[in-house]
Amino acid sequence: MNAPLIDPFQRAITYLRLSVTDRCDFRCVYCMSENMQFLPKKELLTLEELDRMCSAFIRLGVEKLRITGGEPLVRRGIMTFFDGMARHLESGALKELTLTTNGSQLEKYADALYAAGVRRVNISLDTLDEDKFAEITRWGRLPQVLRGVEAALKAGLRVKINVVALKGFNESELFDIAVWCAEHDMDLTFIEVMPMGDIGNENRLGQYWSLKDLRATLAEQFELTDLAERSGGPARYVRIEETGQKIGFITPLTHNFCESCNRVRITCTGEIYTCLGQEGKSDLREPLRASEADAPLEEAIRAAIGLKPKGHDFDYSRQELGGQMSRHMSHTGG
Ligand code: SAM
Ligand code: SF4
Repeated sequence: MNAPLIDPFQRAITYLRLSVTDRCDFRCVYCMSENMQFLPKKELLTLEELDRMCSAFIRLGVEKLRITGGEPLVRRGIMTFFDGMARHLESGALKELTLTTNGSQLEKYADALYAAGVRRVNISLDTLDEDKFAEITRWGRLPQVLRGVEAALKAGLRVKINVVALKGFNESELFDIAVWCAEHDMDLTFIEVMPMGDIGNENRLGQYWSLKDLRATLAEQFELTDLAERSGGPARYVRIEETGQKIGFITPLTHNFCESCNRVRITCTGEIYTCLGQEGKSDLREPLRASEADAPLEEAIRAAIGLKPKGHDFDYSRQELGGQMSRHMSHTGG
């Protein structure tokens, strides 16, 4: 039996987030610039390498795997990868296989994802207004995503809608979005904008809408009960008593969630980031490619976990982007 992954601060690493591509069919203004430079294909881990990488982590105790990107469902052949992961669900080693997606391809893939053992999906959707949707995603079209949401529900997937809280943009839709999610029995999570990557002319400080304010606005119309539930991540939850719905708040900038952090992230090129808010990374592609045996890879994984920092340094408090990260969110997948 392999010893589980424990970091220097005695946190067990049981959750892996894997970015399978840096590409995307959208260009959300807070995430990418319009003219993003993407990586040459040969830099990317192949589907087989992605499988080997995940399988190694699962052997070392990872129980939850979230696939992200870029947009994970635009990676060619991605269903082969999901189908492969099904064996770890069947063996019981993996407890949950899930993904974060912009929803554009769900109409096509929802049934296949369910068949591979996926039961929950996070869909990012910041507005229910067609024009605003086109504005915020630049290339996205709302009806396509709504068809994706419908397909996911129909396939039997539990859906959580992720909304990035943007001041002056979706403030006015707060109640409409909450009610829409309740009507479709979908969970809802709000995310604060994080200072990730150079995104061109957009001013992120102008976009910042504190979730404390958002919560206060929500409380004007609904009775909110704080829930004790924690997922080892930055989310806090409340229940809306009127609808019974669970709402999450992800506030990486205003709360310190690092002490219970159970996760690591891997990019599509096989770099491991052990903290979303720090630049520190290790390369796992080299040991993966160096040998057909998995021992060097496992050793490199253990070494990387041994470097996991205690926490991050994001800070908007002085109205400058303290702790700003040079990499894009699409690089590590959020
Ligand atoms: N393309 C997929 C999607 O949009 O769901 C998966 C990758 S995307 C990078 C993952 C999540 O990060 C999305 O919910 C997106 O809204 C969020 N995100 C991107 N840039 C962000 C930023 N600067 N601050 C906060 N959240 C961000
Ligand atoms: Fe693409 Fe997701 Fe980034 Fe939007 S947030 S540009 S959908 S990767």
